[in-house]
Amino acid sequence: MRRRLLDPAFALSIFGRDAALRRPDSAARCPYHVFHLRRVLSLLMEKVIIVGSGCAGLTAAIYAARANLSPLVLEGRQPGGQLSTTTLVENYPGFPDGVDGPQLIINMHDQAEKFGARFSYAEATDLELRNQHVRVKADDEWLETQALIIASGASARYLGLENEDKFIGHGLTSCATCDGAFYKNVPVCVIGGGDSAAEESLFLTRFASRVYLIHRRDKMRASKIMADRVLANKKIEPIWNTVVTKYIPDEKGEMRAVRLRNVKTNEERELPVACVFVAIGHDPNTKAFAGKLDADPEGYLIAKNLAESKHPGVFIAGDVADRVYKQAVTAAATGCAAAMDAERYLSELER
Ligand code: NAP
Repeated sequence: MRRRLLDPAFALSIFGRDAALRRPDSAARCPYHVFHLRRVLSLLMEKVIIVGSGCAGLTAAIYAARANLSPLVLEGRQPGGQLSTTTLVENYPGFPDGVDGPQLIINMHDQAEKFGARFSYAEATDLELRNQHVRVKADDEWLETQALIIASGASARYLGLENEDKFIGHGLTSCATCDGAFYKNVPVCVIGGGDSAAEESLFLTRFASRVYLIHRRDKMRASKIMADRVLANKKIEPIWNTVVTKYIPDEKGEMRAVRLRNVKTNEERELPVACVFVAIGHDPNTKAFAGKLDADPEGYLIAKNLAESKHPGVFIAGDVADRVYKQAVTAAATGCAAAMDAERYLSELER
């Protein structure tokens, strides 16, 4: 009897998936049935679902897959996360000559798949926290899992100017790697003063005739090595103490120029550019989890002991909870911690 109860087909035939998964308390009340029902539930559910396929999610997938947990990775709208839109990564340990961000991501994906991770392009859109499992909505389908690792990363921020959405893809972007090559021998601008702005500006000098770096302060916040490279590059012209107040289209709706305002003098002027690359930071991708887990005022999830959330069985990794370091290597580290915590949590559940 015990062996038959552990057979998923038999379990389904006696309880039905919905009854077993959604109303476990009412399905059986005596301890014997509760015990078996738990075993049945564990067979019907995923062991680990990982939300996000950036550096954190893929590292979690490698560790969870190597622990024989066969994780399901929901890749979401931006498979590969931010590394998939970056250029050369020079500070990931083990690559003395640097490594292309997209290549690093492909390698991690292959490594996770080799050990048994499974991938879906679905995006997590909602979450329900239950006693001993979690329900995640993947696009329109609810999935059940014993452990969940949230590694949904962060998305590029835009300025919030009028008609901004209409310009995206028409001369407004946050990804030089993706779009830089479309703007050969024309002037472009990058907005921001951090490492992203520095990296984007340097990359764009390969194509554009001129790269204006528009920053609201009078010095960059980028790391010294990156700032020095930017300032030494003759093709890059910094425009300090200045903000963009308007995008100006041509007759076809493509970007033609931006309106600038000097924040010290309030002087305004127009600057002709064919494309605006916005590099002013990111917002955490936490819409699906809003109100369900602890978050700070900007929406970053709050993790304790590196990767734990307040809910047992839910773990957090990478930029979705990191407003300080935001490095590929720190994302990988917390992805590892989240997978190891999930593995420990599952072992304890089975006891
Ligand atoms: P960041 O360091 O937060 O810099 C954002 C920049 O945008 C700041 O200069 C900020 O100005 C400016 N900014 C923010 N909101 C703005 C607005 N509404 N209008 C105009 N300007 C605005 O973000 P990041 O450059 O994306 O870097 C994030 C993290 O990733 C950092 O830790 C960085 O070191 C790391 N990163 C590393 C590399 C690398 O090592 N290769 C590459 C990219 C990123 P203020 O300076 O006035 O605040």
